[in-house]
Amino acid sequence: MFKKILIANRGEIALRVIRACREMGIATVAVYSEADRGSRHVQQADEARFLGPPPPLESYLNIEAILSAAGKSGAEAIHPGYGFLAENALFARRCEESGIAFIGPDSKALALVGDKVASRRTAASIQVPLVPGMMAASRSMREFEEAVESIGYPVLVKASGGGGGKGMHIVRSTKELHSAVETSRREARSAFGDDSVYLEKYIERPRHVEFQILADHHGNVVHLFERECSIQRRYQKILEETPSVALDNDLRRRMGRTAVAIMKATHYTNAGTVEFLLDQDRNFYFLEVNARIQVEHPVTELVLGVDLVKQQIRIACGEKLPFRQEDLAQRGHAIECRIYAENPEQDFLPGPGRIILAREPEGPGIRCDSGIYSGIEVSSFYDPILSKLIVWSEDRETARRRMIAALNDYTILGIPTTIGFLADVLDHPEFAAGRTHTHFINQHLPNWKPRGSDSVLLDIALVASALSGSKHSGARQGARQLESPTPWQTTGKWEIGGSRHGL
Ligand code: ADP
Repeated sequence: MFKKILIANRGEIALRVIRACREMGIATVAVYSEADRGSRHVQQADEARFLGPPPPLESYLNIEAILSAAGKSGAEAIHPGYGFLAENALFARRCEESGIAFIGPDSKALALVGDKVASRRTAASIQVPLVPGMMAASRSMREFEEAVESIGYPVLVKASGGGGGKGMHIVRSTKELHSAVETSRREARSAFGDDSVYLEKYIERPRHVEFQILADHHGNVVHLFERECSIQRRYQKILEETPSVALDNDLRRRMGRTAVAIMKATHYTNAGTVEFLLDQDRNFYFLEVNARIQVEHPVTELVLGVDLVKQQIRIACGEKLPFRQEDLAQRGHAIECRIYAENPEQDFLPGPGRIILAREPEGPGIRCDSGIYSGIEVSSFYDPILSKLIVWSEDRETARRRMIAALNDYTILGIPTTIGFLADVLDHPEFAAGRTHTHFINQHLPNWKPRGSDSVLLDIALVASALSGSKHSGARQGARQLESPTPWQTTGKWEIGGSRHGL
């Protein structure tokens, strides 16, 4: 097993990987930018290496700076988390060349699945159902027009190297086509440095259903069932759950088998996710492969009883999967809510700033993967995710109620968050009935406003208690308060009488 791993990421996912390493007896190296000097991942790792100024290209996307930090610290492996360099084939190749294990698929598999058009072609070659559309990116308007003639409106313009919902535009008529293609190309160039775009049939009100995969280096590939991620804003997930109410066992088996076949065809190793759209007639279509640990991985962990990050590390180290497909079964129901520093009243506009007070919910079946504390400055340079609240219970309805209660117990003051909005999604009768689709938010919660004003009084009381510094405020009871770290937590490793103590 590796003795030391560098985590090329920040925030909640860096902490998640640190926790897995600790339990496995592996030392951790954090990396950080100027904006993250006071971050929890820096304090919690065994050592930390400074990368550079806050802009991602000068820090978390700086391949050579990260490899140099790994070399200097003697790390044998790098965990990329999600985002930043996680799906960067060049980074994976540079790790391979430097003799450092990349905890993810190899650079060839990454290059194959990282491009949407290339992975559509692979899926088609093994007869996997695809969303009808182009099989190659194009620059010719004539080719776009011809594609529309065969697939029919509405269509979706998508970036070949896309991610995070960027560069996607719905087109419902020929007069919109030209400008949508140009806009998408421009956005793709600035977001991914690649302006290849293509067209897909736009599926109306689908569900997003994806399958978690683990594949080792000995030819074993299993799926760990589905996650439903239909609750989205700007084509990006904000709430995920498993199992999906839309699948019966037959459909689940067919989709799971298809997902495994795609990963086998690409010689994929490590953890990955195969995404599908499920239309209203329950036909499924391959969407893309996400070649990394997903933000929403905890719901699978809770329902399968498998630690996916530890499995990633074991696979990268050459170990065999410890289970076969028939050993895996779903138990109970899990829901995850992504807590973003965003304002749902203003079209989810990111709202960075200082968190005055953070208070996390706790209780049976509640997990909070968080990267924040009271007093932290949320930077505008990075993805505005603050934490993930995950609940498990024996069935969907109990999990739904548990999540609403946990959200009501979750306080983050000083910046806008998605907490109140998510509670209203869960409380909606259509959500309770399981009638979810990717346009749920636009259809059921347009122009959302927070309900009632009684929470304001609690907020005022909490701010007053935070400012007075009282440790015994009644307003704080019932949940964990995340204080800014004391010197005892930030000093790092120190020595007494020759023995080493980690704080
Ligand atoms: P990204 O890689 O940017 O996340 P995806 O291809 O994974 O893009 O799609 C993200 C979301 O966009 C999907 O979950 C779905 O809501 C929507 N979407 C993508 N393709 C289609 C399509 N052909 N029809 C309808 N919705 C789509």
